[in-house]
Amino acid sequence: MNDTLVLDGIEKGYNRGKPNAVQVLHGASLHVAAGEVVALVAPSGAGKSTLLHIAGLLDTPDTGTVRLNGREMGGLGDRARTEARRREVGFIYQFHHLLPEFTALENIVIPQLANGTPRGTAETRARSLLEKVGVAARADHRPAALSGGEQQRVAFCRALANGPRLLLADEPTGNLDPGTSDTVFAALMELVRDTGMSALIATHNLDLAARMDRIVRLERGRVL
Ligand code: ADP
Ligand code: MG
Repeated sequence: MNDTLVLDGIEKGYNRGKPNAVQVLHGASLHVAAGEVVALVAPSGAGKSTLLHIAGLLDTPDTGTVRLNGREMGGLGDRARTEARRREVGFIYQFHHLLPEFTALENIVIPQLANGTPRGTAETRARSLLEKVGVAARADHRPAALSGGEQQRVAFCRALANGPRLLLADEPTGNLDPGTSDTVFAALMELVRDTGMSALIATHNLDLAARMDRIVRLERGRVL
């Protein structure tokens, strides 16, 4: 009832019916309560990205249900699904995936414009988010002019631009050196706690996982 995300009985395979078929998720179920930060821990290849993409409406399960903020997503048409993805979920990848031809600020403004926010409001919000992660001085730089840690902080701001209640992060500091990873992760946690949002964060770093509210493990296609 009070869960931001509920995954129930998710099955997912690739290349079904072909010789190279792989079954990745075998009835995976999990929930993330409002305001809860959950670590999704599993070795490489276990299906973390597959699970996060399904939770973030970037991919669909073969069977099973995805519920966001109490609403079942399976029955939605393409438009409603796209809208739900834009409003309800923020997604962070291991590599920032910022648009290279736009500045840091613009990268955070664009998803807000797509969501119908007026430009002035969007820019104010983008600046305040950059401020929170300590990258305000870099607002007018393009991604290529930023360090890896700065790029990833900007990607955090972009994920939060439309005020989603759920953050999904796929090894968000996996691309950074250990020292940078630590401070960048702390910035992310501060943003998440500050907004009171829920988060599901994939990592194989047990030190980072230990700083979250709860750890779930993915093994043989199921969540333990
Ligand atoms: P993780 O993120 O935990 O490393 P993934 O979800 O990326 O795991 O992948 C789980 C398994 O599914 C791996 O064996 C991977 O090779 C396979 N896989 C992932 N995406 C595809 C795809 N698009 N087509 C075929 N196999 C895939
Ligand atoms: Mg992955």
